[in-house]
Amino acid sequence: MEQKPLDNYNFPKGLVILVGAGPGDPELLTIGAFKAIKSADVIVFDALVSEEILELIPNETEKIMAGKRGGGHSTKQEDISNLLVKLGKQNLRVVRLKGGDPFVFGRGGEEACRLAEENIPFRIVPGLTSGIAGPAYAGIPVTHRAVNANFAFITGHESTANTQDHNSDDVHPSRIDWEGVARTFPVIVLYMAMRNVESVRKRMVAAGRSPETPVALIRWATTPRQQTMVTTLGSVTRDIKAVGMKPPAIMIIGKVVNYREILQWFKDETLLPPES
Ligand code: SAH
Repeated sequence: MEQKPLDNYNFPKGLVILVGAGPGDPELLTIGAFKAIKSADVIVFDALVSEEILELIPNETEKIMAGKRGGGHSTKQEDISNLLVKLGKQNLRVVRLKGGDPFVFGRGGEEACRLAEENIPFRIVPGLTSGIAGPAYAGIPVTHRAVNANFAFITGHESTANTQDHNSDDVHPSRIDWEGVARTFPVIVLYMAMRNVESVRKRMVAAGRSPETPVALIRWATTPRQQTMVTTLGSVTRDIKAVGMKPPAIMIIGKVVNYREILQWFKDETLLPPES
């Protein structure tokens, strides 16, 4: 009989796998992510994992929601790490399923540090990060030869956590050198953008970035609920209010945004800001 790929998948008991679920579309799961999801005893997932991906979890698998969403349901980081340690010690096959890539603004590093400290075996399955896949589904290449030779990934919501205290949930005003960023990076991808968009806008313009710089916001990227808005740095705050754009959204700043006019391929809901 022909062997199916899952037949010889090696997921020993007591192993915790930190799995990147990608941005939402199940087609963007890696084969490793798919196998881990199909074979786990328990899956601890966060709020950014899409409904379409949660539907792939077998009925008999225990599902535990533990995660954060700006303003909404939230579980303390320390509690999540403790839970993973507890499940690992119970000799279960544990998947920690996170939106996008577990090591990109996902606190996967902190969870892995806890598992390492407790001598619990773990693996990492990287995922497609929303800061690249989101723009791609909006028809925006994060690099384009004529525009940029680098790009920056930045969080709009920074934590005070340092290496000693990797369970801190504190958030403080940004330490990011926005002026330096504005000067150095033609293209900037901002995660968790919605909260501090006005201060980012002000600092970038003050640092000399033109208010005409194109900006796109992509919400629920790669899902059937994807919404995209194109605006400019000068109008972004006003337009977010005008169209009612909400988290979770990726913001991309730079001339690569203009390629959406040529490259839009995925059917999304385009939110049109009012004429200025
Ligand atoms: N580890 C994730 C990022 C977690 S930070 C990754 O690699 O993608 C949470 C932020 O990610 C959100 O505030 C939003 O800015 C972004 N994000 C994650 N999934 C998204 C999606 N499907 N659409 C738009 N933004 C998304």
